[in-house]
Amino acid sequence: MSVTKNAAQPLLRVRDLNVSYSTAGGDVPAVQGVNLEVRPGQMTAIVGESGSGKTTSAMAAIGLLPSNATIDAGTITFDGRDITSLRRREWRELRGRRIGLIPQDPNNSLNPVQTIGASVEEGLRIHKVGTAAERKAKALELLERVGIDDPERRYHQYPHELSGGMAQRVAVAFALAGDPDVVIADEPTASLDPELKSSLFSLLRDIADADRAVLLITHDVTELRDAGIADRLSAMYASRFVEQGAASTVLEHPHDPYTRALLAALPSGGMVPIPGFPPSLVDLDDSVTFESRL
Ligand code: ATP
Ligand code: MG
Repeated sequence: MSVTKNAAQPLLRVRDLNVSYSTAGGDVPAVQGVNLEVRPGQMTAIVGESGSGKTTSAMAAIGLLPSNATIDAGTITFDGRDITSLRRREWRELRGRRIGLIPQDPNNSLNPVQTIGASVEEGLRIHKVGTAAERKAKALELLERVGIDDPERRYHQYPHELSGGMAQRVAVAFALAGDPDVVIADEPTASLDPELKSSLFSLLRDIADADRAVLLITHDVTELRDAGIADRLSAMYASRFVEQGAASTVLEHPHDPYTRALLAALPSGGMVPIPGFPPSLVDLDDSVTFESRL
């Protein structure tokens, strides 16, 4: 399967997606009616408060929803192929090589009893890419690229020997090792200091500029606006996308009250937190809108 290198063609396409979690308190509709297109050469961002459904959308797109989650409706396609309900074996072919994930919790990609080097090389080993020496060289190069000092020493260390910020960057190296066509980055800068944040954002932008499709998830609109790296932006509130468009337009002239409130909560706007809390997703119906919080 060759990738269609046409910016007009989305590589990853999500259509009318509904995902719910089965919990002791009832079914939680975490994602409702989500439509998303992620194109090569572009960075598409999803912003939204905690619990709005960002990670659930990402996990559905890479076939890693937890066992209590169900895709109730909708389709997900990758390069024209329906991947909504692939088998585990089929996912092994795609994951890492075609679609890579930088997970919100880096511990999800790092095996605690495996060295950093072995973890970063894992995807290459599974897909039998290169010789052992070539895989090691690639791992060291990636560790350097994500800003790990002394990669040779870190290569032989274990995850518990890393700081949170380092583990996060190693998880980025892990996700990039297979040179995937789509990179999904779920809050990749959460535990990084400002300098590392900005270098990771530049790295993600470089990946998009190298004709890969990047989906960046963040709750921090400030960071995203200041970085100026996103091409498309979707704002998510209580399981739904409330606004989508060109990132510059949405950031400068948001239409939806929620997007406006997210932007007004920025430090430059005086750090006014959005009043109240997002609604409980249990018993959520169409009458629940963000306006009711204002
Ligand atoms: P955050 O910014 O905190 O990472 P998010 O936007 O990524 O939030 P999700 O993690 O997708 O949000 O969660 C969406 C909703 O689904 C929330 O109400 C959350 O409590 C619920 N949820 C997430 N994971 C599970 C799970 N494994 N079981 C039950 N409910 C879950
Ligand atoms: Mg999340």
